Amino acid sequence: MSNNGSIKPHSQNSRIEVIASHILTSTTLNPSSMASEKEAAIAAAAAPPPADAPTIFDKIINKEIPANIVYEDDKRPFSALPDLQRVLAFRDINPQAPTHILIIPKVRDGLTGLSKAEERHIDILGRLLYTANVIAKQEGLDDGFRIVINDGPNGCQSVYHIHVHLLGGRQMNWPPG
Ligand code: 5GP
Repeated sequence: MSNNGSIKPHSQNSRIEVIASHILTSTTLNPSSMASEKEAAIAAAAAPPPADAPTIFDKIINKEIPANIVYEDDKRPFSALPDLQRVLAFRDINPQAPTHILIIPKVRDGLTGLSKAEERHIDILGRLLYTANVIAKQEGLDDGFRIVINDGPNGCQSVYHIHVHLLGGRQMNWPPG
């Protein structure tokens, strides 16, 4: 995809195009014909990639494509962390709030989504949430923020490498859509 890591203004169409670019690599569906994120997620479920298939996030981790990185464990004083506990955080290419950051494990270790979590993942899952808190402070989100983990087609997940969304900088609504 043509990701330059920069923040684009939110639009429903661009959101759908981002999702579609990850899931429609081998289908004949046209991204522009999709009416909603929900349909994009359903399309993803209809043509799921192999569980070990790399995602766009691997390219970001490997610095093959640019991203606006806001946090990386390897650059921290406590970089003695085991590989399986290291995280990377970068700004979402299609932000849904003034601050929208994705926090991911640098090694996926089978965690395509939260529903694939096993007991061995407890440390990395805790670190993803802890890091969200560190970044929220770094970003000055002192009045609050929201954490989202989309899972599977019903959860509108589009990238199958577990990630925590950190959203802030505006009043959130409840219930979520
Ligand atoms: P999901 O829908 O799977 O919960 O969230 C995936 C997120 O990844 C979306 O919010 C989408 O905008 C973001 N995303 C997809 N591709 C890229 C990319 O290439 N770069 C960045 N920075 N974000 C991306």
